[in-house]
Amino acid sequence: MATIIDGKKISKIIKEEIKSDIDILIQAGIKPHLTVILVGDNPASHIYVSMKEKACKKVGISSETIRLDKSVSESILLKKIDMLNKDNNVHGILVQLPLPSHINEAAVIEKISPDKDVDGFHPTNLGRLITGSENTFIPATPYGIVELLKRYNVKIEGKHAVILGRSNIVGKPLGFLLLRKTKTGNATVTYCHSRTSNLTSITKEADILIAAMGQAEFIKKNMVKKNAVVIDVGTNRVEDSSKKRGYRLAGDVDFTQVSNIASMITPVPGGVGPMTIAMLLKNTVYAAQKYSLKVGN
Ligand code: NDP
Repeated sequence: MATIIDGKKISKIIKEEIKSDIDILIQAGIKPHLTVILVGDNPASHIYVSMKEKACKKVGISSETIRLDKSVSESILLKKIDMLNKDNNVHGILVQLPLPSHINEAAVIEKISPDKDVDGFHPTNLGRLITGSENTFIPATPYGIVELLKRYNVKIEGKHAVILGRSNIVGKPLGFLLLRKTKTGNATVTYCHSRTSNLTSITKEADILIAAMGQAEFIKKNMVKKNAVVIDVGTNRVEDSSKKRGYRLAGDVDFTQVSNIASMITPVPGGVGPMTIAMLLKNTVYAAQKYSLKVGN
């Protein structure tokens, strides 16, 4: 049976570490502040935003959510972001995705000041990540994954990491993190996606296999090398009439099968999910630290 990589436990440790950074900032007269913009009534987005609000409160980050109607125009949204960019009391800005289809997501992301872009999705920050600059915000989910590997002493250097998924928020940035010339990098990285041929022959070669596909329990035992480290990013709702809410949460990995062959594995829930929130908090504190340096505190 594989060792369970406990994201819940590690995220708690990270939140404790963050608290002492926040104390230092507060002593310097800066209270880290995150503003979230939530457009429309996507139920999953509302749940994610309220989880972020609660997490901020717990560690002592002040937060505010601006709720906009789903019919809001792109230009009004861009103006709001502009105002927040100029507000010295706001250190981090996050626009909850997805946005309604009449709004250009890329334009919105590019409007956020790179210094306040705590999601790390702005092209400037993604560019810095790719070029190996330290001065960047790393997208929270890939950041959390690397942190889990680090804290479980998983050797990354020289290993073959196979990533299933090439989204801008998870797959792509994760690959560049694992590729960096750092202690938590130097992997050989392979990306797979929906057009990849002979998927199983590639996943079977992975020392570290990361599934970020959004396909419930897709990864079966026959797709995994013995003793591989398996990270499951997927968060899928699977109908389940035995549950009060009518569904259960499932990852992209068939946990029951794969935990018998992997050396380490993340569960869903309780693996990558809690880490994503913890790293968002870390990024918000980093944004406040950046501001503190700018104003010379
Ligand atoms: P996207 O839908 O943006 O990307 C999914 C990727 O998986 C795409 O690159 C797609 O390929 C690839 N893919 C889909 N089906 C297959 C297949 N059968 N074989 C190979 N590749 C496939 O999703 P996200 O990156 O936003 O999220 C991925 C999953 O992670 C989702 O379940 C999401 O809910 C979850 N998630 C969890 C987070 C957490 O904190 N736990 C945070 C963010 C996401 P192609 O590009 O060709 O379409």
